Amino acid sequence: MPWCRSIPKVELHAHLNGSIRSSTLLELASRFSKMGTINFHEVQAIILKGDRSLTECFKLFELIHLLTTDHQVITQITKEVCAYENDCPALFPVVEDFASENVIYLELRTTPKWNASVGMTKKSYVEAVFAGLKAVETVQVISNSLDVKQNGLEMERSKRIIHVRLLLSIDRRENTEAAIETVQLALDMQKFGVVGIDLSGNPRVGDWKTFLPALKLAREKGLPITLHCGEVPNQSEIQNMLSFQPERIGHACCLEESEWAQLLQSSIPVEVCLTSNVRTETVPFLPDHHFASLYNSRHPLIVCTDDPGIFGTDISQEYALAAVCFGLTKENLQFLARNALKHIFANDDVKEELENIFDLSVNITD
Ligand code: 5GP
Repeated sequence: MPWCRSIPKVELHAHLNGSIRSSTLLELASRFSKMGTINFHEVQAIILKGDRSLTECFKLFELIHLLTTDHQVITQITKEVCAYENDCPALFPVVEDFASENVIYLELRTTPKWNASVGMTKKSYVEAVFAGLKAVETVQVISNSLDVKQNGLEMERSKRIIHVRLLLSIDRRENTEAAIETVQLALDMQKFGVVGIDLSGNPRVGDWKTFLPALKLAREKGLPITLHCGEVPNQSEIQNMLSFQPERIGHACCLEESEWAQLLQSSIPVEVCLTSNVRTETVPFLPDHHFASLYNSRHPLIVCTDDPGIFGTDISQEYALAAVCFGLTKENLQFLARNALKHIFANDDVKEELENIFDLSVNITD
C-alpha cells in the first residue's frame, strides 16, 4: 500500500462534491443546524451511513448540494485549506488530498449549478471552483497552459506540483437547453482549464435523446466527452452511447454480451471505479469485477475513485485493490498508471510533458 501511494498517478474520474470528506460534511452540517435549517442528528446519520445503494447515493448528493451550494464553500472545498470564519476548523482539502496521493494529473468533474437565492449562476459556480484552485498554497496547481508559462515548472521545486483540469458535468435531470448551456460554458472556459464534458447523475433518470444535442455540440467544437455508461441495465442507451463513440466512458458495469463485444471493438477507454461499483452494488462482488476482462483483453482502462469522500477510498487504495484482487505486480500497476496519461483530455505536448514528469518521479521513488 505505501508503494501504491508513492508511485505517480493520474485521476480521471473524480466528482468534486463526491470527494468531500465526511468530517467536512459534518462541519458544514453543524453550521447549517446552528442556523436552524437542518436537524444535525438526522443529517449526521445519513452522512455516516456505511454502504449505500446507488439510489441512496443520489439522496446523499442532494444533501451534499444543500450543504455546499454557496460560492464561498465551493471555493473553500476545492482549495487546500481554509479558515472559513475566525476559528472554524479547516474544510476538506480536495486538491491537496489528491496531491498527497502523488496524483500528478487530476481531471476533476463537477456539475455547474445555479441557485438564484445566493446569486449563483452556472458560470459563477465554475468561477468559484477555479478560485479554489488558485487559492491552493501548499501545492503548486497548474490548471492551464498560461499557468505553465507564468509559473514555469522549475519555479517551485520545493512544492509538489499537480496538474488539475475540470470537466463540466451535465446532470441527467437537466433538459436539453440546460445541457447546452453547460457545453457552451465549457467552451467559454477552456482557456482557464476546462477540458471536457461529462454526463452523470442518477442513471435511472433522463433520456439519451435529451442530452444528444449538447453532446453533438461539444463534439462539433472539439471538446472531448466522457459518459457514465452502463451503471444500470439499459440496453438501448448503452448501445447509443457506444455508437456515439465518446472519448472515454465511466463504469461499464451492466453490459450484455453484444455490448461488451461492441466496447472491446471500439477501444473506448474505460474509467474503472472498483470500490464505488461494489459499494453501490452495480457489481456484486469485487473478484467478479469486469476489470479482469478489460485488463486481460488489453482494453484501455484507467483506475479511478469516482467519489473518494463518499466511498471512503483514495486512488492509492484503488491501485492496491486491483493488485490484490487481480494479481497485478508492481510493474503492472506502474504500467497502468503511466498508460492512463494516454487517455487524458490534453494535447500531445501536455501528454509528453506529463510522461516526463512521471518518469522523473518514478526514478526518484526508485
Ligand atoms: P458534483 O457534480 O456536484 O461536483 O458531484 C456530485 C454529482 O456527481 C452527483 O450529484 C451526481 O450527479 C454525479 N455523480 C457522482 N457520483 C456518481 C456516480 O457514481 N454515478 C453517476 N451517474 N453520477 C455520479
